[in-house]
Amino acid sequence: MLVVMRDHASRKDIDHVVDLLEEAGAQAHLSEGEVKTIIGVIGDRETIYGLELDGLPGVEEVIRVLKPYKLVSRDFQPEDTVVTLQQGATIGGGAFATIAGPCSVESPEQMRAVASAAKRVGAAMLRGGAYKPRTSPYAFQGLGLEGLRMMREAADEFGLPVVTEVLDVRDAETVAEWADVLQVGARNMQNFMMLDELGKMGKPVLLKRGLSATIEELLSAAEYVLKGGNRDLILCERGIRTFETYTRNTLDLAAVAALKSLTHLPIVVDPSHATGRRELVSPMARASVIAGADGIMVEVHPEPERARCDGPQSLDIPGFEQLMSDLAPLLELAGKRSGVA
Ligand code: PEP
Ligand code: MN
Repeated sequence: MLVVMRDHASRKDIDHVVDLLEEAGAQAHLSEGEVKTIIGVIGDRETIYGLELDGLPGVEEVIRVLKPYKLVSRDFQPEDTVVTLQQGATIGGGAFATIAGPCSVESPEQMRAVASAAKRVGAAMLRGGAYKPRTSPYAFQGLGLEGLRMMREAADEFGLPVVTEVLDVRDAETVAEWADVLQVGARNMQNFMMLDELGKMGKPVLLKRGLSATIEELLSAAEYVLKGGNRDLILCERGIRTFETYTRNTLDLAAVAALKSLTHLPIVVDPSHATGRRELVSPMARASVIAGADGIMVEVHPEPERARCDGPQSLDIPGFEQLMSDLAPLLELAGKRSGVA
């Protein structure tokens, strides 16, 4: 960290900063010019980031050189994290996993139809929302526990693991009883209390990028989960808010390539929420493979026109089959193997 003092900062102000740093156990190295003094700080990341030096008298700027995260970074762990689920499905380290299912769980028949198709075409996991984060409080909020049961039953019949969202930290225990992967939705990416809790639950977590979160903010959120002791974390790029309105969000594929170099964690792309348009799902899924994604998460519904949520971006079952065959040659090109158990 560098503390840049104001022009002609007084001796007293400089000494005050140095004293605070030394009291905290950090080393301060002064670089004194005619006009400016810059203090180079060396010490424990947690300690020095905890010091609020920005507002002190005489301080112009505090420049943080170290990244705000550590455990998630490639520097800390060069080899890819491979998340292995109870049913044997894997993601990361060259294993590519497709996660497929409806936006929301609606009925046993719906879940069974999707689970059967998912198994048949080589998806690794079943998704579905039982607790739905809807923009309008009047929109369908999901079936809750009943939905979890329906999804579990369909998944077990076909030997698939279940990915579903924990919308509120109070539901975490219940969701963890029924699901194999706990999803943190985009709107909860910075719900640090929830991330902390999920870090201690002993189930893999899928963390979606916030609607306006930077790559650094996503990785800092991921750090909370790892810091809680959970190493099984999957990141998800699901599009970000931009000025573009034709698509629901803007898929940030550069983030996928960037994340592959910044972190060892596996990354899936959600082209359904990223585009909001069914016809864009396959092209963006294919582009994701080339960008280095370790998986995709796609919304699939047996009757998208009747879906209670996100029908326009949901693939029907033939569309999903087509997607999987569109992906096959690209997966081979990218040297990925299937993450199916
Ligand atoms: C979802 O995956 O069901 C979902 C609500 O997505 P997001 O949190 O990315 O909006
Ligand atoms: Mn959805």
